[in-house]
Amino acid sequence: MTVPTSFKAPWDCDKLREECGVFGVFDNGEAAAHTVLGLHALQHRGQEAAGVVSFDGRLFHSHRAVGLVGDHFSSEAVIAGLPGHAAIGHVRYSTQGAPLLRNVQPLFADFVFGGLALAHNGNLTNALTLRRRLVEQGCLFQSTSDTEVIIHLIARSEQPTVVERLVDALQQVEGAYSLVALSGDALFGVRDPLGVRPLVLGELDGSMMFASETCALDIMGARFVRDVEPGEVVIVDRRGVHSLKPFSTPPRRFCIFEYVYFSRPDSSVEGLNVYEVRKRIGAELAHEAPAPADVVVPVPDSGVPAANGYAQAAGLPFELGLIRNHYVGRTFIEPSDRIRHLGVKLKHNANQATVAGKRVVLVDDSIVRGTTSTKIVAMIRNAGAREVHMRIASPPTTHSCFYGVDTPERGQLLAAQNNLDAMARIIGVDSLGFLSLEGLYRAVAGRGRQPAQPQYCDACFSGNYPTRLEDQGSGRAADQLSLMFEDA
Ligand code: SF4
Repeated sequence: MTVPTSFKAPWDCDKLREECGVFGVFDNGEAAAHTVLGLHALQHRGQEAAGVVSFDGRLFHSHRAVGLVGDHFSSEAVIAGLPGHAAIGHVRYSTQGAPLLRNVQPLFADFVFGGLALAHNGNLTNALTLRRRLVEQGCLFQSTSDTEVIIHLIARSEQPTVVERLVDALQQVEGAYSLVALSGDALFGVRDPLGVRPLVLGELDGSMMFASETCALDIMGARFVRDVEPGEVVIVDRRGVHSLKPFSTPPRRFCIFEYVYFSRPDSSVEGLNVYEVRKRIGAELAHEAPAPADVVVPVPDSGVPAANGYAQAAGLPFELGLIRNHYVGRTFIEPSDRIRHLGVKLKHNANQATVAGKRVVLVDDSIVRGTTSTKIVAMIRNAGAREVHMRIASPPTTHSCFYGVDTPERGQLLAAQNNLDAMARIIGVDSLGFLSLEGLYRAVAGRGRQPAQPQYCDACFSGNYPTRLEDQGSGRAADQLSLMFEDA
């Protein structure tokens, strides 16, 4: 089953995209229903496909589909088809592996020790290298997903227990992974040694659960217990919760872009409320890049908290000068050329009453290609704005991400190809300003502190990648996978 190319809504593609969200629950009478709820809360982390695998004490059950959680997991029949007291789930937006049903996670395999289902948030940076080696050794791959490499490494491990096999496999991979896995008698939550992607542990009426973000616990009234630590393997079984630290632990490098854009603003990640961080980012931006303006307007929805922080710090009114249509998206699966030409107008409209005759500060979280920004600025001008000053709540995005985020090639990144003046000209603004990397670190730390760099992964701003990029280094680009594993 393939997904139409336009599924990646063309009017909405000028953003970096988080690739996945994961959820898992153990010892719960409504494991599948809770997993679906959790995935629903994590839908912002991946809208292309969703899947759930449950275990009923004897058999594993799976339901996976291309599309939104609400489109495929709402019916009682689907939940009834996922019986058992333990389940894991996954929402996906692919970068590694084409949007095919066979790539939809959780992946499942029968091993000598029994079944194991696996759901992965992140990208492995040596997956292609490992895959080639495994294929040479006779492994038959069923998907084009980098996650399947882990499945084969587990299968080939000679370690005696499931957890030791899992650790053995993960010791061979590089890159970013926050994983949940479900065997016949345990649920596992694992974060890579750098802790690039988030993963939290929660509890509901004695049932333990893992989720990419705390908003997936909040939706069902579950209690946040703690973050899974970088390099930690948490095992939940009938005997309770156990923790292993089997990996060497370099200094953590959590993805700083989770604060800028990816995580939901009501989530707390790595101990910080995302909304509060975004407001501080906006305030920092107002100090670093003030603008002669009458009103602050956010690009909704992701620019709202930073614009709020900017307006408060600058002492300017905050107005909704752009209105977002929340119902655009999957409705237009195959837009005609004429509709496609309308582009961003399907998603945003300028609110003339709040911008006409005004000097507007337009606040967005980031600029990727700049195509959406250009259209939005034109829209604000057409609505009568006297001046448009764009302020971006992150540093210029100059490098691609290889850790689980869909980024264009460097050549398509506006800031990788142009200086500030050229970018302002292209976008059509009177002035353009970005937050500095130091300012971003200050905003995340709060209370005027200036933490040492790098404490986070900030590679898409700095080019300072925290791991080797083995698949890239030898000219074997990740998209070569599709040449090896073309599918219809
Ligand atoms: Fe996050 Fe950017 Fe690092 Fe990717 S490169 S993990 S988006 S900070």
